[in-house]
Amino acid sequence: MTEVANNAARNGVWGTDHPIGVAVLGMGTVGTEVVRILRDHADDICNRVGAPVVLRGVSVRDLGKDRGLPAELLTTDSEALVTRDDVDIVVELMGGIDPARALIKQALDAGKSVITANKALLADYTGELAAAAENSRADLYFEAAVAGAIPVMRPLIQSLSGDRVNRVVGIVNGTTNFILSAMAETGADYHDVLAEATRLGYAEADPTADVEGYDAAAKAAILASVAFHTRVTSADVYREGISKITAEDLETAAAVGCTVKLLAICERVVEGPEEGGKESVSVRVYPALIPRKHPLAAVNEAFNAVVVEAENAGRLMFYGQGAGGAPTASAVMGDLVMAARNKFFGGRAPGESVYAELPIAPIGDTPTRYHVNLQVADRTGVLEAVAGEFAKHGVSISTVRQEGHDEGARLVVVTHHAQESALADTVAALAELDSVTSVTSVLRLEGTEE
Ligand code: NAP
Repeated sequence: MTEVANNAARNGVWGTDHPIGVAVLGMGTVGTEVVRILRDHADDICNRVGAPVVLRGVSVRDLGKDRGLPAELLTTDSEALVTRDDVDIVVELMGGIDPARALIKQALDAGKSVITANKALLADYTGELAAAAENSRADLYFEAAVAGAIPVMRPLIQSLSGDRVNRVVGIVNGTTNFILSAMAETGADYHDVLAEATRLGYAEADPTADVEGYDAAAKAAILASVAFHTRVTSADVYREGISKITAEDLETAAAVGCTVKLLAICERVVEGPEEGGKESVSVRVYPALIPRKHPLAAVNEAFNAVVVEAENAGRLMFYGQGAGGAPTASAVMGDLVMAARNKFFGGRAPGESVYAELPIAPIGDTPTRYHVNLQVADRTGVLEAVAGEFAKHGVSISTVRQEGHDEGARLVVVTHHAQESALADTVAALAELDSVTSVTSVLRLEGTEE
């Protein structure tokens, strides 16, 4: 504490007699771990910040649950807690939009720094919250909102602030990665693996937000906003989930040296000089085939990873635990120490940067490679008819693979880059062909050099 006392003397405000006060909203999976670390490592945190950082209170819904905390620290009155005079930093870990949105705003308006892990809220309301932070010159930190323990927001916001980011591609949802990894490994069906994931606690009772890609889309919006200095909300993100992925999709992917991953892709799109070289941002979440040698193909189970491509830094990869109480709390605590240091030394977190205001590229204009799986009649002329439909719609074929089946034949067509809209027209036309029994699946192919 000697160093703390010296610092206090230097700073004149904070110190042993005037600790930095913290309020935590929510004491569930993440909040419990934040409270534990804050209390167990109080001395280390004090030395890292320069002044003691103390827990002033925790708000919850149910005061009846045993939380191992003195009763006077618990409250159901979040509003009163966030505006208390002895609270300097508010950590929001209750989740959801309301009342989290109003509470964060209230805290920021009162000049408190705010740390949140709430991706659903940030994906749609960062603008409003960042404006409130700006007005009262308070900090808003959200490292834990994307990819849990993995430091990816701070590298994008700070370390790469002198570079130009062109692409951010990530596996940012642990539940879907667990399911797809298990399907690839065991050959099991989607529904069986989802049931197992629920039993093991990797999937929630209602898995919609994860399996339909909403959670990944929220994170993609946050990543894209920061990477491209453009406000991107969840409504700007094209989204498909994994609930239609079959064991056969994984099998055909393996047969062409690929695996299937739910990817969040944030891309700077630059038109050619003949189109005026205009820039836009493409943000999309969907399951895609990636070659087994791609760095994201090795990310299995519930792990997350984010690959960032920047003009000068080149390719960077961030990997680790994307969820869970302690891993997520680690990221929250990093933000808390930063916010406390800013209080102590008088610094500020970087504010929202949306100066570029790039337009969002519609998914129909986004070129991707496709892997089209067709069930066809096993007779001559089928290949010609199928290839003809691709050519008619301007979709160039890279490879075709044919496999015989009792009930007919399977054709797997891999295209070169094609517009989503051209591919959709091709698929509609293929479905009308007499020789095509069904279009079994259409998956995008990402991460190839072509
Ligand atoms: P959780 O386990 O459901 O806990 C939520 C906590 O908030 C509970 O303690 C609950 O109180 C409290 N709460 C909810 N509504 C409240 C209200 N209106 N007033 C007062 N307290 C209220 O949630 P979590 O998993 O810790 O997640 C918290 C946040 O972190 C979310 O935004 C989530 O998206 C984000 N996050 C979570 C993870 C993860 O691995 N869990 C990872 C990254 C980010 P009771 O205990 O009384 O019910």
